Amino acid sequence: MSAEVINGKDLSYELKQEMKEEVNVLKHKGLTPHLTVIIVGDNPASKSYVRGKQKASDEVGISSDVIELPASTSEEELLQIITELNNDSTVHGILVQLPLPEHIREESVIVSIDPSKDVDGFHPVNIGRMMTGEDTFLPCTPAGIITMLKSKNIEISGKHAVVLGRSNIVGKPVGQLLLNENATVTYCHSRTNDLKAFTKQADILVVALGIPEMINDTHLKEGAVVIDVGINRLDDGSLTGDVDFDRAKEVTSYITPVPRGVGPMTITMLLKNTIKAARGLSGN
Ligand code: NDP
Repeated sequence: MSAEVINGKDLSYELKQEMKEEVNVLKHKGLTPHLTVIIVGDNPASKSYVRGKQKASDEVGISSDVIELPASTSEEELLQIITELNNDSTVHGILVQLPLPEHIREESVIVSIDPSKDVDGFHPVNIGRMMTGEDTFLPCTPAGIITMLKSKNIEISGKHAVVLGRSNIVGKPVGQLLLNENATVTYCHSRTNDLKAFTKQADILVVALGIPEMINDTHLKEGAVVIDVGINRLDDGSLTGDVDFDRAKEVTSYITPVPRGVGPMTITMLLKNTIKAARGLSGN
């Protein structure tokens, strides 16, 4: 068996074309969705992610601005800026780029964002709504994964989905979204004994470990669907996932590549949330 590759870049392009039309309609009604991104400090990776978010916003006609703050910014100063953005009706989505400098508590910052502007979907209120299956802002990477599965009409209901990783931004929420879609979900993490015993049972395997090419064909059931969330930069500067793509694709039915897999979908879901926020706030 050789897998069908789910190309996140192509799917993102298609979704962005649809969103462009949607934004055009909103603009004709006098509403331009606006995203404000806050970045604290000089982390080069964060800066590059923020540029990517701005470029993608431009592509679909969402206006955006970036507030760049020095690493020395206090938590209080940052919270004050967020309060101002919460009260600014021209700002529909607020995103604080993580990680933050150590002296700023991420939890305090996340809860300070108005849940109706929380386009990252990290606010506890939105996480709660996701758990109860209500309409809300879904966290972008997990939402992108579900969108990729649905784009190929991959059956989720009744399948055994195994999630490797339990971070708050990827592992935990993607498991919850798979559960909402009626999968039977197993979470694995660094304390899991005999990882292979679980991965071998997976109809759908989501890998979010941050360990280059840790998963290969020997971990997989024939015909499994494999979603590789990992983004690992190797010494030669190239990017690789958490899955050994060449080996895994020989036994899987569907697989996502790295790059051009889950990564582009994450940004696309941010755009979707920003449009949703603009609609929600304006009643459009
Ligand atoms: P974290 O480091 O927060 O979480 C990694 C998880 O992997 C933890 O739950 C950890 O377990 C588990 N783990 C680590 N080692 C093992 C092991 N040997 N066996 C089993 N489980 C293990 O990472 P993130 O969730 O933030 O990110 C995961 C990967 O996804 C990274 O490569 C990151 O760059 C990438 N990423 C990609 C995105 C995209 O848009 N494509 C977006 C976000 C992240 P424990 O909890 O016990 O420590």
